[in-house]
Amino acid sequence: MKTEQIKIFDTTLRDGEQAPGYSMHLDEKLRMAQQLEALGVDVIEAGFAIASPGDFQSVTEISKTVKTATVASLCRALVKDIDAAAKAVKPAAHARIHTFIATSDLHLKYKLKISRADCLRQIKEMVAYARNLCGEVEFSAEDASRTDLDFLCKATETAIKAGASVVNLPDTVGYSTPEEIYRMIKTVHDKVPNMDQAILSMHCHDDLGLAVANSLAGVMAGARQVECTICGIGERAGNAAMEEIAMGLRVRHDYYKGIYCNLKTEELMRTANLLATITGIKTAPNKAIVGANAFAHESGIHQHGVLANAETYEIMTPESVGVKKTELVLGKHSGRHAFAERLKELGYDFEEDKIDQLFGEFKQLADEKKVIAERDLIALAESKITVRREPKTEWKLDNFVVNSGNLMSTTAQVTLSKGGKIKQEVALATGPVYASFAAIEKIIGHKFTLEDYQIHAVTEHRDALGEVIVKIKDKKGMYRGRGVSTDIIKGSILALLSAVNRMVNDKGE
Ligand SMILES: [Zn+2]
Repeated sequence: MKTEQIKIFDTTLRDGEQAPGYSMHLDEKLRMAQQLEALGVDVIEAGFAIASPGDFQSVTEISKTVKTATVASLCRALVKDIDAAAKAVKPAAHARIHTFIATSDLHLKYKLKISRADCLRQIKEMVAYARNLCGEVEFSAEDASRTDLDFLCKATETAIKAGASVVNLPDTVGYSTPEEIYRMIKTVHDKVPNMDQAILSMHCHDDLGLAVANSLAGVMAGARQVECTICGIGERAGNAAMEEIAMGLRVRHDYYKGIYCNLKTEELMRTANLLATITGIKTAPNKAIVGANAFAHESGIHQHGVLANAETYEIMTPESVGVKKTELVLGKHSGRHAFAERLKELGYDFEEDKIDQLFGEFKQLADEKKVIAERDLIALAESKITVRREPKTEWKLDNFVVNSGNLMSTTAQVTLSKGGKIKQEVALATGPVYASFAAIEKIIGHKFTLEDYQIHAVTEHRDALGEVIVKIKDKKGMYRGRGVSTDIIKGSILALLSAVNRMVNDKGE
């Protein structure tokens, strides 16, 4: 069978990060970029360099960190945008400028207020300009799926002639059906005379739930790059989900006639989990490939079949996407060595003194609950990942006392320390979390609003660790914090403090 590779272009850190609730800080983007590289994506779109100084810095730092994947920055087809993108991706081992302009009459007339001829001229000049600054240029025809097909062919030909080696034809508004996408890609692929000098790319949105189907239809018609995100996060209803594209090609290689991608699909689960951890947004249980229920066979008939022969109801193995069959546990008698090894296996690379600190907490936890599951360990480790900063600028919990009951108002007394100084405040409120948060706000003397508060048990049973995720907001931005404890009030306070420390140390990106 003839085999052919399609390139996976990840835009989790650009299109995905733009979605409400998914914004990430620089250190989080770097962690995500490293995991995407471990997963084997071909291109990482690191941001929109001209959008803000923070975006520019993210693209630059990711360019310095990533070694094998290509790093791209998005930019409009304008000189100042292209200059910023070129500068931001400069440190990358493999750099790409991704420039775009709309091509549909609707966008040309109402948004850009230019003619088709102006549009072609701009494509020609700006792609050539970008090509002078960077060895690899991708051109996107925004709203391609609603563009007149003859004009789309002209635009593609112009971009390739000017030096683009990838031409992306997005379904920007998520309007098309798979048959229409197939026709669009097939037409451009067959009609454009210089098509042998570039590859076509898909970028589909999920407004009608068709992003993955449309992307794969494009691949069948000749596209050789797919732009997608982990769990399909992205603007509005999101983008095409990378894990679905990859497993679709792998499981149905018979249908897709040997077309494959280079992802190490065994890393998919870990990548989706990292995204959920970083953003504090849990993956839906019924999410294809990486949801908690994706491989759960609850009904009796199914269970019986799977036990007799897994293929009766399982079209892919859990191991092929990185779900482990058994979860290894640690206990009270596990030593520091076994503990450190397990952390490493889970992908955490801590310094020795941090491992000591974590091991102390682990021992304490092992006293409180008999069995420590892998999920407990991850929660513990995640609560320790913080931005590097001076310890003297960090608020720490010294102690707290809460007095609560159903016939009284709740009082919380919280004592915090920072750089050797101790501060204490008392607050009254309707509940213990509310009261402790109010006391902390008084201590730090910095106003914020609580945007989100989530608590969940990391494992089953009554002695489970509670993991608390808090999002707070001030004038400068949004800050996430995470805390774990078998005591939910303590976990809540720790989560708030980790968010507060980010907030008071943020110099504004
Ligand atoms: Zn998009």
